[in-house]
Amino acid sequence: MNRSSAAQVEWAGVKHAAGLPAFERGWVWLVGAGPGDPGLLTLHAFNALNQADVVLYDALVDESILGLAGPQASYVYGGKRSGDGATQQEITDQMIALARAGKRVLRLKGGDPFVFGRGGEEALALVAAHIPFRIVPGVTSGIGGLAYAGIPATHRDINHVVSFVTGHMAGGDVPDTVNWRALGEASPVIVIYMGLKHIGRIAVEIIAAGRSPDEPVAIISNATTAKQLVIETTLARAESDASASGIPGPALIVVGEAVRLRPGLDWLSAALHGRKLEADPLRKSRPRKKPARTLSVS
Ligand code: SAH
Repeated sequence: MNRSSAAQVEWAGVKHAAGLPAFERGWVWLVGAGPGDPGLLTLHAFNALNQADVVLYDALVDESILGLAGPQASYVYGGKRSGDGATQQEITDQMIALARAGKRVLRLKGGDPFVFGRGGEEALALVAAHIPFRIVPGVTSGIGGLAYAGIPATHRDINHVVSFVTGHMAGGDVPDTVNWRALGEASPVIVIYMGLKHIGRIAVEIIAAGRSPDEPVAIISNATTAKQLVIETTLARAESDASASGIPGPALIVVGEAVRLRPGLDWLSAALHGRKLEADPLRKSRPRKKPARTLSVS
């Protein structure tokens, strides 16, 4: 038995054990691919890649993931990046046309399809067109990307609230629908998607909400991929550090004390570059002050 047939037999076993569904003709599966590392795909996503006739993929889907589709699959780019891609309407129309032609259509999106991914809009268009569909959630970059940067989205000593917010409006501006002041007051940890371009303005808004200019900020670029890059800065320096470093998108911005946990939790740098991890990055167990009087025991 060669390697690929062994893999097929093993996958058939996993499929059976996990009760994974068959991809029916004429269906669309809207699937989250996770932030990049193929290991973060769900079994449902892998099962979809195995059976799809057409993979209609987003700009953010990592190439290594596309390589996992079966030999029967053809690929159609369904992204809107850099202005020269298709419009949202064209992508939706194409998805519907392929399903009506009897294809098993895998609409593959970066992260989770329902988190800043227009998955809801695309699914509603399928409802209107009477196309049956399935939603497969994915690991959103705001969770998975943070984990690969060694930043927990919540930590008992730091926050009981975390917010996920977009830093970009359809028109390309900072969203005026986001109440930055309320967010700054209420959310100790703020995870900003699509914010790199407007990082300066966003930082100003958050400082205006009463947050310290020295509050830590991390910028995580290409999270969970081989190109992952993280810079640590502060609200006051975020814009200048981002432009001086030339850190590229896609990137997440994390604002909050949770960033201070990185020296303890940056497991990826420990694994790749031998970074030594600190057990007490928040300095909780500072040496206690000497008691005023010491009792001498002889
Ligand atoms: N549905 C996606 C988000 C799409 S919006 C999800 O759940 O992750 C696009 C934004 O997501 C990017 O501008 C960036 O802020 C973020 N993003 C997606 N993948 C990323 C990655 N691998 N690294 C860093 N940011 C990422």
